[in-house]
This record gives sequence, C-alpha cells and structure tokens, in this order.
Amino acid sequence: MKLKDKNVLVVGLGKTGLETAMFLYEKGAQVRVSDMSTPEKLAKEIELLGPKGIEVESGGHTDETFLWAELIVLSPGVPYTTPEVRKALKENIEVISEVELASIFITKPVIAVTGSNGKTTTCTLISEILKKCGKKVFLGANIGTPLISIADRDSEYDVLVLELSSFQLQGVYSFRPDIAVVLNISPNHLDHHESYTEYIESKMKIAMNQRSDDIFIYKSDDEEINNRLPRVKANKIPFGDALSENGISYNGCCVRYENEIYELSGMKLRGRHNIDNIMAAIAGTRALGCEPVQIKKAVIEFDPLPHRNEYLGEVRGAYFYNDSKSTSPGATLSALESTRAPVILIAGGKDKGVSYDALSNIVNEKVKVLVLIGEARQRMSEELGGNVRSIMADTLKGAVDSVLDNLEPRDSVLFSPACSSFDMFESYEDRGRRFKEIVENIRYS
Ligand code: ADP
Repeated sequence: MKLKDKNVLVVGLGKTGLETAMFLYEKGAQVRVSDMSTPEKLAKEIELLGPKGIEVESGGHTDETFLWAELIVLSPGVPYTTPEVRKALKENIEVISEVELASIFITKPVIAVTGSNGKTTTCTLISEILKKCGKKVFLGANIGTPLISIADRDSEYDVLVLELSSFQLQGVYSFRPDIAVVLNISPNHLDHHESYTEYIESKMKIAMNQRSDDIFIYKSDDEEINNRLPRVKANKIPFGDALSENGISYNGCCVRYENEIYELSGMKLRGRHNIDNIMAAIAGTRALGCEPVQIKKAVIEFDPLPHRNEYLGEVRGAYFYNDSKSTSPGATLSALESTRAPVILIAGGKDKGVSYDALSNIVNEKVKVLVLIGEARQRMSEELGGNVRSIMADTLKGAVDSVLDNLEPRDSVLFSPACSSFDMFESYEDRGRRFKEIVENIRYS
C-alpha cells in the first residue's frame, strides 16, 4: 500500500491511534487524527503529535475531516456505525482497521485468535506454550501492545500471537493469518454492530483470505461457525467432545489429538470452557512445531488469569468467585456451568443490547438468588427473574450486602456480570479489584 503523501485519517487517539499516527507519519503520509474526547483529556497526545504537523480534531468528529481523507484507519472499538464513517464509506473512501494496516507490513508467521469468549486466556496460553518450546513470541493486538507497534520491525520474533476483536476484524481486507482460531460465537457488542449477523461475519473474516495450506481451528459444535465452514478454504481442525478424524477432542478425562494423548491432571485452569481453550492452543502450537511433552508441561503450569472465574476462597462457609471479565451472557453461561449449585449470582452492568435469554435455563437450574446492579439490571430482572428471586442493588457493595443477607454455608457466590463495566467502573479490572476488596473486607470483619 502506498502511503507517501496520502491523506490518512486515524480515528481514535488511544494507545493504538497514537502509534498508528506515528507509523503513518514515518511512512510519509499526510496524517490527521479525530477523537471524541476533549482537548484537555488529549493534551499529552496533542503535544506529541503537534510538532510533527499532525492535526488533531478533538471533542467530536466532523464531516470535513472525514471527507478530506483518502484512507481512514479505525482504532479498535471505533464502530463502523459512527455517522462520519458511514458518510465516508458512501463517498467510497477506504476504511480499514489498524490490524489491516499493520498486517501489510508483517513478515513473520501469525496465529490469530478470535471468538466471543476465551480469547485472552487462549492467546496467553498459546504464547506460554510457544515460549516453553523456545520460540520468541509477540503477544498482542487486542491485548497489550497494538500490532502496529511492531509492524515493519517483527524480525526479532519467531511467531506473532494475535488476539482479535470483531471490530478489528470488521476492518480487514487482505489480512491472512497462517493459523486462525475461532473459539465460539455468541451474542456480544450488539450496541456497536448493525446486527448479530454482522458481528458473526466480522469474526469469520479471520479466515477470509486463508488458503489450503493455512489452518483453521474451530469449535466443532458451534452452529454459527459450522454454517459458514463451506467458505473456509484452509485446512480445518475442529475441537470438541466428538472424536473426528482430523480433529482434537476431549473425552471427559484426556485430550486426544491424532495419536497423542494429553493427560492434564494437576492443571490450574478450571471449567469445561477452559478445555476448549486448551484444545485450541494444543492444535495451534502443534501446527507451529511444538512437541507434546513441552505443550503438556506448559498447560499444567499455566496460571489462570485474574478476574476470569478466579476463586477467592471461603468466606462465612461459602465459596466466592470473581468473574468480572465476563462481559457477555456467553461468558456467564460458561462460568455458571462450572460453578457448583446453589449459586448466588451477582450480575449486571452496562447494557450492550444483547438478550439474556441464553442464561435463563441455567439460572432456573442453579441460581437461588440473583443480585443485579448497573444499567442492565431492570432488563435482566425481567428476562431472568421469572422463577428466581432477584434483588436490585445500587452499588457493588450493596450487592454484596444483599448476598450476605441470603448466604448459607456451601453456597457458591459468583460475580459474573454478563455486561461491560463502563456504567459504574473504569474497566473490568477495576470492577474485579473492587469486588475482591469488598470480599476481603468481609473476611476480616
Ligand atoms: P475474552 O478475551 O474473549 O473476553 P477471556 O479469556 O478473558 O476471554 O475470558 C473471559 C470470560 O469468558 C471468562 O471469565 C470465562 O467465564 C469465559 N470463557 C473463557 N473461555 C471461554 C470459552 N472457551 N467458552 C465460553 N466462555 C469462556
């Protein structure tokens, strides 16, 4: 792609947008940036970009800036539904994601992971396995370091492990990973996508340019993925409970792949959903040349990431879990599946426009009391509270107080919001830390 002297607009001035603007500047493009935040909030970034002649539009977007561009690069999280983006598309201006731009300059093998749930766990596990096998690994994109930061300078790595969101994938056109993983698909981010179909199609773009010598790893019983398999040209490796000739499977005790058996007793990852993540990681790292002995060792030694079904210990005879990273009903479903009944579930947060219906059977089966917080609490109570008592709380502390009022020994208390955190907290980490603090305080009160 020729960038020299091209008018390029970067939308969003977070970490990724800043790096993208710098990258484009170094390539000789005429760069502008547009961000909704106030100039005060962007003062540091403006100070860095100003001396390079990069104009920053802040406090909102304008048609003029968007229509000036010959190419628009979206930061992750900036939706295609943004009105100015729509107008630019109508004028046939090319709109891509930062991952698409970066991927044009990448030379090393790529394993890319997407899915509604389990991306960070799977990518981190893949990265740990590859390191154990002696490889130099870049782990980034939707987590940690943006891909653009190493585009053009990826020679120091043997392999790149990329976590990709639906937004990042929606804006790819030529991106072609050597290995693509789709963990699962369930409703999420419907506030930022036109429809559920658009969300699914964005995820499936991960395989769009793959060829027959590439690899596509996917959950074998996921209907949405299966419906779209005929379009995938890569060599397919399904994972799941069913044994299939070219797939990887779990029989309730061990993982089996071709003639290899992975006996994983002693591992710290909990829950059936993590077996899916492990199977995907095994298939991906085998394809990259790792040996089974090292893979098994790395899986067993892997420490679960915080805020993902994290066991906090026993308090007043009950078992407390922090699953603050659950930002979708699909994630809460898997957390509930691996939690022993009776459960007191604390859920709710920023409403992302998805239905909670997928949770209703398991809530009826396992949950004794629902404690609901945040913007989504009313809708959750209407959709899930039919047969189960639901209590509304104004704060997380208030929610935990309601839990204590209803707590009996041997209950499981699961904080798994099924919503994002931004209505009441800075991030899911902030939300999870707050929950842990409150639980610690009652432990010592
Ligand atoms: P992501 O990066 O996709 O948000 P994480 O690895 O951070 O995924 O896990 C987030 C939450 O999703 C976890 O707390 C867990 O409850 C749930 N989860 C993890 N892996 C899976 C999976 N393979 N299938 C369904 N749910 C999962």
